[in-house]
Amino acid sequence: MSTLRIAGGRVIDPANGVNDVVGDLWIEDGRVTAPPADPGFRADRTIDARGYVVMPGGVDVHSHIAGSKVNAARIMRPEERRGEDRVMRRWRSFRSGTIGSVPSSFTTGYLYAGLGYTTAVDAAIPPMGARHAHAEFGDVPLVDKAMLVLMGNNHLVLDAVREGDPARVERTVAWLLDSAKGYGVKAVNPGGVEQWKLGGDRIASWDDRVDQFDVSPREIVVALARAVDSLGLPHPLHFHGLNLGLPGNWAQTLEGMRALDGHRIHMAHIQFHSYGGTPDAPADFDSQVGPLADYVNAHAGITVDVGQVMFGETTSMTADGPTGHYLANLLRRKWYNHDVEQEDGCGVSPIVYQDRNFVHALQWAIGLEWFLRVEDPWRVAMSTDHPNGASFRSYPEVVALLMDKNLRDETLARLPERVRTRSGLGDLSREYSLTEVAIVTRAGPARILGLAHKGHLGPGADADVTIYAPDVDRRRMFALPRWVVKGGEVVVDDGELRSAPGGRTLYTSLDVDAATRGELSRKLAEGASFHPANFGLGLDDLAGPFAVGRRRPG
Ligand SMILES: [Zn+2]
Repeated sequence: MSTLRIAGGRVIDPANGVNDVVGDLWIEDGRVTAPPADPGFRADRTIDARGYVVMPGGVDVHSHIAGSKVNAARIMRPEERRGEDRVMRRWRSFRSGTIGSVPSSFTTGYLYAGLGYTTAVDAAIPPMGARHAHAEFGDVPLVDKAMLVLMGNNHLVLDAVREGDPARVERTVAWLLDSAKGYGVKAVNPGGVEQWKLGGDRIASWDDRVDQFDVSPREIVVALARAVDSLGLPHPLHFHGLNLGLPGNWAQTLEGMRALDGHRIHMAHIQFHSYGGTPDAPADFDSQVGPLADYVNAHAGITVDVGQVMFGETTSMTADGPTGHYLANLLRRKWYNHDVEQEDGCGVSPIVYQDRNFVHALQWAIGLEWFLRVEDPWRVAMSTDHPNGASFRSYPEVVALLMDKNLRDETLARLPERVRTRSGLGDLSREYSLTEVAIVTRAGPARILGLAHKGHLGPGADADVTIYAPDVDRRRMFALPRWVVKGGEVVVDDGELRSAPGGRTLYTSLDVDAATRGELSRKLAEGASFHPANFGLGLDDLAGPFAVGRRRPG
């Protein structure tokens, strides 16, 4: 038994209604505990946190840190990872690695923990890629990891949707998720990627047909949302809609949310789905956050993460293969599509977001509008859709912008003038409090994910704690926590990494009967290039497996 006391800090724990209250935090064997009954009890170690701000560890609800697309990006972008400032040399027991927009595996863990983030969810792993992604999770220390499994273009799912049998969709979803040892279900451009792979017409609206399967995106996404709800998965359907990145896509975004009325849904990187104008006249490009945020504000079952764009060089990677292709052609940059049989593909291409570029500058403003227009901070989560909008290493800068209207205005002033008329950002005077920052970076994402033991500091919570030195320079404050505690172990002290324990892998435990396994394995085998016995994963394949309970028995 080891005990840690974090003494006298300004505790910000919004999930438990603790808003900047000076107090002690007690930790025993990796979990937060109630204070000891004996007032004379001495902890094995005490951190003197007087004057410091104490928050739960950060939770990233949408990121891309492992698997085939991430590795494709590493391979295709050596130029971005050359130079002393992009290399981490081996030091003490730590591993060497590279940084850039797609850091190597160990470095990803070090960098997240260095920011005070202790949980990260990879939002797009194809079922066939789960084995690889789990192996890689094992090489990402310091953070607990989970994956969302792609199902919006999965042949077995599309077959089940066409049959119109919700029970069959549910069985298929459960089997895929269990086989991948995934955490939640993701739908990306439902049906649209499959249609693109077969050379069909682009799927642009919710009632277009996916030729090969004779289903519509609407039918797919409604069936998946229903299955996720009836299985009682901890996280709602994680949803990336149609026409990502295209002018005028806001109308389909609104229609998609309406189609899912009555279901719990999480809208991924909503910034990329909030554009006015038309694809034929990009000059009409404008922000349509207003009507979309009004809809979100009026519907408590919807949560969003933003996918904030920040200026600089990064790498786009999306399971929305057609969008990756479109973007690479538009920018005339190198492009790679990682095709995954029977499910999806993944486009990877470099991108530089420039503040002199009207479209990029407007994307930046649209992301910030989302943070400021969603009234309930519990329903909007921090994300840059790492690395699509920017690296997760930009989070401190985003926080600084949310907390300071002057900083936003200074940036707006140097952007193309049209940005100020095509977005309402300049009129938004809201400034986030530290409590609101704690909500959008940890408490809210944990709640959205259904992680009852994360994102708060009540007894029983994982002892993932980040301790910041208050600083008027918010960017510096959030970039360099003074201490970070992971699972009760002090892993960052004095701003430096001290140890790198492996994190856990969070998965949703599901019961799938033998008949379903047999039936779906046989169907998979009909079209697969591998033996189905090599498909499903066991708990031995996961690094530190940790089952998260369902909301209710299915
Ligand atoms: Zn993403």
